[in-house]
Amino acid sequence: MRRYASVVLDADSTIAGIEGIDWLAARRGAAVQRAVESLTARAMNGDLALEAVYAERLRVIGATGGDIEALAAAYDAAVAPGAADAIAALHAAGVTVHVISGGLRPALLPMTRALGLDDAHVHAVEPLADAEGRFTAAAPSPLTTQTGKLELLSALALPRPVLAVGDGATDLAMAPAVDAFAAYIGFVRRDAVVAGATLVLDSFAALVSHALSA
Ligand SMILES: [Mg+2]
Repeated sequence: MRRYASVVLDADSTIAGIEGIDWLAARRGAAVQRAVESLTARAMNGDLALEAVYAERLRVIGATGGDIEALAAAYDAAVAPGAADAIAALHAAGVTVHVISGGLRPALLPMTRALGLDDAHVHAVEPLADAEGRFTAAAPSPLTTQTGKLELLSALALPRPVLAVGDGATDLAMAPAVDAFAAYIGFVRRDAVVAGATLVLDSFAALVSHALSA
């Protein structure tokens, strides 16, 4: 019944309809928002390496603990329709589900817990606070780099076959290590990602139909 033993999901613009770091930037005013959104879009479209922009985005934003909590609530409010049901259906079918995200882990965990995902299955970036308590840097992680999702996924050695699902160029980078890569276009359609994908999914209902119909 199940076509895959493991499913790997991106978070931003896949599980939830926001880009977390852009969302934080918007709290700093229009100029910061424009600058950060431009950097994010260029990285997700594959025009700019993520490592070239990751630290700069955090430094410019200078998020507080309160900002991170607010972002967690925003993720929770922006969950894709059907995502909770889809993850429950995958779990019920014995599929291992992991989240591999370039977002900030403390902001993602309330949402992923609500979706029934084990914290140990949520891989994301740990922000580091400076002396003033502002999260201006990230703990060293492959997930701050363009091909880091591939590196992390390979190290996990998940049960095969594996389906990876995401909207961005950093997700497509996992393609060599998975059995299928689905471009998720429920929130954003990026042509370069669609072009490299095995299949295209526009909803979590479509994900379940594909993953459990073999
Ligand atoms: Mg994404």
